[in-house]
Amino acid sequence: MPASDNRLLANLTSVRRRIAEAALAAGRRPEDVRLVAVTKYVDVPTTARLAALGQLDLGESRPQQLWEKAAALADSAVRWHLIGHLQRNKVRRTLPFVHLLHSGDSRRLLEEVERETGAAGRPMLDVLLEVNVSGEEAKHGFAADDFGRTEDELQRTAEHLAALGHLNIRGLMCMAGLDNDPAAARRDFARLRELRERLQREWAGRFTPAELSMGMSGDFEAAIAEGATIVRVGSALFEGCDGPSEESGEPRP
Ligand SMILES: *Cc1c(COP(=O)(O)O)cnc(C)c1O
Repeated sequence: MPASDNRLLANLTSVRRRIAEAALAAGRRPEDVRLVAVTKYVDVPTTARLAALGQLDLGESRPQQLWEKAAALADSAVRWHLIGHLQRNKVRRTLPFVHLLHSGDSRRLLEEVERETGAAGRPMLDVLLEVNVSGEEAKHGFAADDFGRTEDELQRTAEHLAALGHLNIRGLMCMAGLDNDPAAARRDFARLRELRERLQREWAGRFTPAELSMGMSGDFEAAIAEGATIVRVGSALFEGCDGPSEESGEPRP
């Protein structure tokens, strides 16, 4: 076993322990928080090692990297999560690999995903609605008000989403603001939870948007305290491991 493999296992064990501790501290069950390991910083062999260590929920933010890794790990039981923006012209090529689409960030994208899911003969695709809780210009996602301010507007949104019959709207996703201190991040997570509670009330019987995908390396414990059911952790898993691969176009934080 190469030294970096030990390090990867130690990091994974530590992140899982911190998730369990944060859940227990919030009076929640550790198994109610799922870890998605974000592999955008690392190459295919490191990604394969994670899977071999039993970490089967993996996330990529760029469709091309997801295609490459999903193809390379086609024989594994990995469940791929797309967590970054999906351009509409990449929907067809991407969807066959995707277990859960976290970045349902506009109506036009959802409509395209609906069309291509149907065209591919897939009965249902699990999707999260991405919400720009921090309101930063550069971020994708719905504004909370996009779902409607009044009861009537909320019902119209529900009807529109229900008409997308191949989409199983499983919950909401967000990223905390970029320059956030921990307290501000926690307020962003609380806003997503409150929005989920409102949608669950208003959309009862139509959708159960139960999942909250929120929290990254720097803030996943705060997200769990606010009810995260999925945390997306990248850099904390790879500290002290081999450097980023050449093919990874993203800078290490
Ligand atoms: C990169 C990324 C993550 C993981 O971030 P880390 O801080 O490295 O844990 C989570 N979510 C999204 C959408 C990302 O792009």
